Amino acid sequence: MMPNTIKLYDNDAYQTHFCASVLSCELRDKPLDKPQSHLQSQSQCHSPNDGKADSGKPLYDIILDQTLFFPEEGGQNADSGSLNSHPILDVQIKDGLIRHTTDVPFSPGSQVEGQIDWQPRYSNMQQHSGEHILSGLVHARFGYDNVGFHLGIKNVTLDFNGFFTPEQLEQIESLANEAIWKNIAIDAAYLPKEQLDALEYRSKIELTGPVRIVTIPGYDVCACCAPHVKRTGEIGLIKITDAIKYKGGMRISIQCGDRALEDYRMKQQQLSAVSVLLSAKLEAAADAVGRLKDENFALKGQIMALQTALMEQKANAVPADAANLLLFEPRLESGVHKKYVNLLAAKCPGICAVFAGSDREGYRYLIASSSQDVRPLHDRLKKELPAKGGGSKEMVQGSCSASREQVYSLFDSCGIPFTGQAAKDQRP
Ligand SMILES: [Zn+2]
Repeated sequence: MMPNTIKLYDNDAYQTHFCASVLSCELRDKPLDKPQSHLQSQSQCHSPNDGKADSGKPLYDIILDQTLFFPEEGGQNADSGSLNSHPILDVQIKDGLIRHTTDVPFSPGSQVEGQIDWQPRYSNMQQHSGEHILSGLVHARFGYDNVGFHLGIKNVTLDFNGFFTPEQLEQIESLANEAIWKNIAIDAAYLPKEQLDALEYRSKIELTGPVRIVTIPGYDVCACCAPHVKRTGEIGLIKITDAIKYKGGMRISIQCGDRALEDYRMKQQQLSAVSVLLSAKLEAAADAVGRLKDENFALKGQIMALQTALMEQKANAVPADAANLLLFEPRLESGVHKKYVNLLAAKCPGICAVFAGSDREGYRYLIASSSQDVRPLHDRLKKELPAKGGGSKEMVQGSCSASREQVYSLFDSCGIPFTGQAAKDQRP
C-alpha cells in the first residue's frame, strides 16, 4: 500500500518550489472534475467526458511521495503550478493520496521538480484566514455555525445557519478588520487526541485520525487542512460584499487581501464613471441616478400622452369605408399601441394591423378584428416572415424582423384588400 502523500504545505505555506519522487503514474480514463480553465489562466473550453486534456493529449494522474500542491479540499480550489515545467491541470486528494493530473507521463522512481503558482496560492491563504476570523467571530457572538464554505478563483462564500441584520454584518466586518490590524500570529499544528478532547474548536465534519488545528488567538480555533498566512496583518482587508438568505440561514460573500483591493478598484471605476456621466459627486451618485429615473418616468408619461393624442387623431382620420387596415408607425409605447389598434378595430369592420418600429430595428405588431378570427393570418405571418407571438381570435401580438415590403407582400398574398392612410401613402 502506498504511504499517504506528505503535505509539505502543512509545514511551510510560503514555499513554492519542491523536489519529490514519483510513486505512480496512471493513464487517466475519466475526465477532469473541473474545466481545465479553472486552474489555468489560458481559458479554453474543456469538452467534458473525454478524459483528455484541452490539447487532445491523454491525461495522467501522478502520485508523489510529497507535494506542495494543495488539493481541492474543504471547499477550497486546488493550487495551480507545474511539475518539471509541465502544467498541473488538477489536484485531488483521496484516502490520503494526492493526485496531480497532467498531460505528460512521469516515470515511477524518477525525481521531479514542482513549482506552485504563488499569487493564487497566497490569495487563497488570505481569503481562507479571513474566513476563519469571520466565522470565529460569528460563532462567538451569535452561536451560528459555518455550514458551507466555497473558495473559488473568483468568489468566497460562507454559509451560516442563522440570520444577520445589515448592522450586525457591519459590526462583524469591523471586528474582523480589527483582528487584522492587531497582526496576530496564526498557528497551525496537528494535535494529539488527548489534547483535542480537552479543546473547544470549530469543526465542520467529524474527523478521525490526527487533526490539524488552526488557531487565531482571541478569535478562532478550528480544524482545518488548508494553508494560512502567518499573521493576520497579511490578510490586508476583509470586506463583506454580499449577504443573501440561503437554506434557512444566510450566505455571506467576502473578499480579502488582493481580491478586496481589486474589488475596490472595480467599484471605484464604475462609480467614478457614473458620477462623471451624471456630473455628480461620488457620494451623491445614487441620488443623481434616482433623480434621473424620476425624470425618465415623467418623460415617458409625456410621450405616452402625446402618442395617445396623435393616435386618436389618426384613428379619427381613417376613412369610414375602410374594410381592412395595415398601418406602420415608428416605435409606439405598448399601451398606446394597444389603444390605437382597439380604436381602429372599433371603427373598421375587417382586420386592423398596426406594425410599430422600423425595418432596421424590426417591428412589434398588434392585429385585431371585431368580426373575424385573426389567428389564421397570424399563422401565415409566423410561418412566412418569420414572426413570433400569440393571442386570441380577437387580437394577436408579436414581433418580427421582416421589412415593411415583406409585410406588404405577405398581406397581399393573403388576398385581403388592405386600405388605410399609411398603406396608401407609402406603398409603391
Ligand atoms: Zn479552514
